[in-house]
Amino acid sequence: MVRDPRVVEALRSVPRELFLPSAWSEHAYDDRPIGIGHGQTISAPHMVAIMLDALQLEPGQRVLEVGTGSGYHAALAARLIHPGGRLTSVENVEDLARQARENLIAVGATEVTVVAGDGSQGWPSHAPYDRICLTCAAPRFAPPLLDQLATDGVILGPLGLDPSRLTRARRSTDGSWIEEDLGACAFVPLRGKFGFD
Ligand code: SAH
Repeated sequence: MVRDPRVVEALRSVPRELFLPSAWSEHAYDDRPIGIGHGQTISAPHMVAIMLDALQLEPGQRVLEVGTGSGYHAALAARLIHPGGRLTSVENVEDLARQARENLIAVGATEVTVVAGDGSQGWPSHAPYDRICLTCAAPRFAPPLLDQLATDGVILGPLGLDPSRLTRARRSTDGSWIEEDLGACAFVPLRGKFGFD
């Protein structure tokens, strides 16, 4: 269930068709993942909504996304951290990163910086982050990602494969971790140093 009405508003305000290959425009509002090239997919709208709700985004937050893909998820998150927020999104396929930048400019998501590289190691130069979101399935929340999370920060992402479990962890002020299992889901695998390579 999506609790934050701002998530629903963000879904309404960002045109998903702009993030899809043009041949798929008429399917833009089907609630399912769609291929965006390079064997990757744009997540289904309901999964994006569940993840954005679970992230508990607020205006002004600093956010890291691992797996830019089309940029759709980043565009929605940008609405939720506006004004004053910054989102760094890492994509390891350069072609997708370039396309995502164009898509994000087209919807005016100026809060987002897309960087090309291995996001399995996070993006230390913009850390710390209030929120970290993985949009591909990881073996675990790797130490470099946890190190880049602010105190009281939240990290969310699918862990494991076939199926993955959507998992949320929060670093509390005393340094301990609270981890929650939010259910089964299906995602493409994280590549790179801390991925499934
Ligand atoms: N959030 C995207 C969907 C992402 S699909 C959207 O809204 O469209 C997952 C993405 O993670 C793919 O584009 C894949 O190329 C990327 N990915 C996989 N391993 C990665 C890594 N180590 N670093 C950065 N991106 C990675």
